[in-house]
Amino acid sequence: MLDFRDRFVVDDPNLLYLDGNSLGRMPKAAAERVRQVTEEQWGSRLVRGWGEGWLDLPRRVGDKIGQMIGAEPGEVLVADSTSVNLYKLFFAALSARPERRRIVTDAANFPSDQYLLQGLRLSFPDLEILRVGQETEVTSLEDLRAALEDSVALLTLSHVGFRTSQLFDIAAVTAMAHEVGAWVLWDLSHSAGILPVELGAANADLAVGCGYKYLNGGPGAPAYLYVRRDLQEQLVSPIWGWFGQHRPFDFALDYTPATGIDRFMAGTPPILSLAALEPGVDLILEAGIDAIRAKSVQITSRLIHLADRELAPFGFDVASPRDPGLRGGHVTLTHPAAWPITQALVKEANLIPDFRPPNGLRLGFSPLYNTLEEVDEAVRRIREVVKSRAHEKYPTHRASVT
Ligand SMILES: *Cc1c(COP(=O)(O)O)cnc(C)c1O
Repeated sequence: MLDFRDRFVVDDPNLLYLDGNSLGRMPKAAAERVRQVTEEQWGSRLVRGWGEGWLDLPRRVGDKIGQMIGAEPGEVLVADSTSVNLYKLFFAALSARPERRRIVTDAANFPSDQYLLQGLRLSFPDLEILRVGQETEVTSLEDLRAALEDSVALLTLSHVGFRTSQLFDIAAVTAMAHEVGAWVLWDLSHSAGILPVELGAANADLAVGCGYKYLNGGPGAPAYLYVRRDLQEQLVSPIWGWFGQHRPFDFALDYTPATGIDRFMAGTPPILSLAALEPGVDLILEAGIDAIRAKSVQITSRLIHLADRELAPFGFDVASPRDPGLRGGHVTLTHPAAWPITQALVKEANLIPDFRPPNGLRLGFSPLYNTLEEVDEAVRRIREVVKSRAHEKYPTHRASVT
């Protein structure tokens, strides 16, 4: 059984950390890598570092992520945040297709993705946004199909839903959109690094994803974007920074986009954060995505089995798909008292889950460091909290952000 737990910093072995899909644990190699880059490169090589590997990092780490998501070298770039990359690609797609003025997404998509679409109206006042399905439910393919027609420039979805854990079939949905001439932008934030993603085989158009969840890149790690090779020269980033210029160090006054994926860079890349991200990506490549997915399916299947047996009698429901082929790496349970229960778990049971309004207790397992025994122990602790009514002394409404 896949076990990379000792490659991560685990200072409290009793802590059940079930939030690796929000912030992955820290790889031991990341600390060593950051020490090396600060002391040996920044400290000693100073500005010479740019010519000694720093400039290549966004592409080099991008190509490694590319191996994980079925992309060719030169199709993935590490840059900016997921939100900024979404903006760049949404804008570029709309600009390239002026005859189409509609974007389709689903209500289950991540809030930042929704807000960025709404903000595009500042630049494209006639943009129509069609939102399919319900926030807390799986989205039906039939509803998506019904929303697709000739005016749709882009369909954008999370490959795995952050709340429900619904897993879309990239190839089938992409083919469905291509039938009406729409492009598809996949947000891989909850799928890359935990399950196989085959962008190339699906002929996917565009994608983005996050560096700090299953890739274990650290808080605020840089994100990545994917643009299929044959689309790269048709698309122009809306942020005309000098790093996306074709010869930034000529310092010319007028902008010409770089050829290839580099045109989606904006400014100077964050070298320390890029360096911290690479060891997490390397760990996933070393473990192999098929082995990671196999263990992930075992974990989530066992969790659902135990939740039905041990937690349902205490008012819990399973809100994620029961078919593992339709489910990502996390499982959301619902309970009317999910928020007080979350507080009791963190404060009294040494278990860190996620609360997702209105009533979701989200349990994210990262197969690199979470174990099957932790599934049993998590269910035991959750049951104990509810059975002993330990949660009843906690507030039922949230005062501030957590
Ligand atoms: C985590 C996540 C993001 C995060 O975006 P940031 O710009 O990194 O804050 C975006 N989309 C999805 C689907 C996510 O899960």
